[in-house]
Amino acid sequence: MDTLISKVPTPSYLVFQRQLERNLKILSTLQRETGAKILLAQKCFSMFHFYPLIEKYLSGTASSGLFEAMLADEYFDGENHVYSPAYRPDEIERIAAICDHIVFNSFNQLKKFYPAVKHKSIGLRLNPEHSTQAHAIYDPCSPTSRLGVRLKEFAQNIDQLDRLDGLHIHTLCEQNSDALDETVAALEKNFGGWLGRMKWLNLGGGHHITRSDYDIDRLKRIIARLKRNYDVEIYLEPGEAVALNAGVLVTTVLEVQPSVDGISNVIVDASAACHMPDVIEMPYRPPIKNSARIGEKAFNYRLGAATCLAGDVIGEYSFDAPIREGDRLVLEDMAIYTMVKNNTFNGMNLPAIVAVDDENNFEIVRAFGYNDFKGRLS
Ligand SMILES: *Cc1c(COP(=O)(O)O)cnc(C)c1O
Repeated sequence: MDTLISKVPTPSYLVFQRQLERNLKILSTLQRETGAKILLAQKCFSMFHFYPLIEKYLSGTASSGLFEAMLADEYFDGENHVYSPAYRPDEIERIAAICDHIVFNSFNQLKKFYPAVKHKSIGLRLNPEHSTQAHAIYDPCSPTSRLGVRLKEFAQNIDQLDRLDGLHIHTLCEQNSDALDETVAALEKNFGGWLGRMKWLNLGGGHHITRSDYDIDRLKRIIARLKRNYDVEIYLEPGEAVALNAGVLVTTVLEVQPSVDGISNVIVDASAACHMPDVIEMPYRPPIKNSARIGEKAFNYRLGAATCLAGDVIGEYSFDAPIREGDRLVLEDMAIYTMVKNNTFNGMNLPAIVAVDDENNFEIVRAFGYNDFKGRLS
């Protein structure tokens, strides 16, 4: 691993086949034992280099719109589900041509596009109006949410239900099966009377199934009960759980500044704003290999990017040895919500994308440069 880290260009994302496959095996076992179907939520991880591997284990993909659906159509052999808060009229025909399951966010959208998609399996996203998390920006059940149909509106449109094969919810984010249990209880309380008329129920993403403390048995019980009580096919569409802990971001230290407040600012060639925006959005502090919390080890640093944004700070860390210019740091759990969110703010280069096979051989799948920055600007 250390020789590998010293050989790759920086910044670069390394994605490990072995770790990905570990997650995929857990998910495929779950599919086999429950009969539920699991889809890759591409918005989280779309490194299609690995789609031939992923399609061996999962049933298909979940797309956020036309482009992700096209990527799946091109590279992933499986079911192609799509959900968008609002489809574009100029894209719906194309979507209908390549997707087998199309989920609408409102009755208005369903009515507007029904003629174009009526030969497909059609679903409707519901808002079960039950929040289980505190991150407002990741809570589709917040009081002002635009995501999903609330019970009141649903009850006024039951004349449309014959057009639906399925219902869809997505309310969780990095959560365990206890949160799903509560959410499903809210769903059944509000919409249970109609579930039995459906062919399928999609429980969305946000299930951290491959995390070590995830209660898979509880998830299995929920799936079994739903199948038994309503005779529906169950879909899950996790993103994070597929590529959790499957990748790192390798960065080089460009400068170590003198300490300001007992902590030295270190400038690296990766940026939170450009290469890991969730660090700022969520916010969270990504783990770094061989580091600890501030004050726990002898040498303390605050890591920031070579951008002009004062808040482009990755986090504060302590290490056993001093950090020097040219050192490489390994930021962990960087396969998810990173490559898919990258930008070139400040003219920062995009990290290279590197695949590591199960014998630790690496392949630079894609490297970027000036033209990738320029190409989006004029
Ligand atoms: C984001 C999202 C997912 C995947 O969520 P993860 O937290 O990555 O598991 C699945 N379905 C929908 C509708 C989403 O918006």
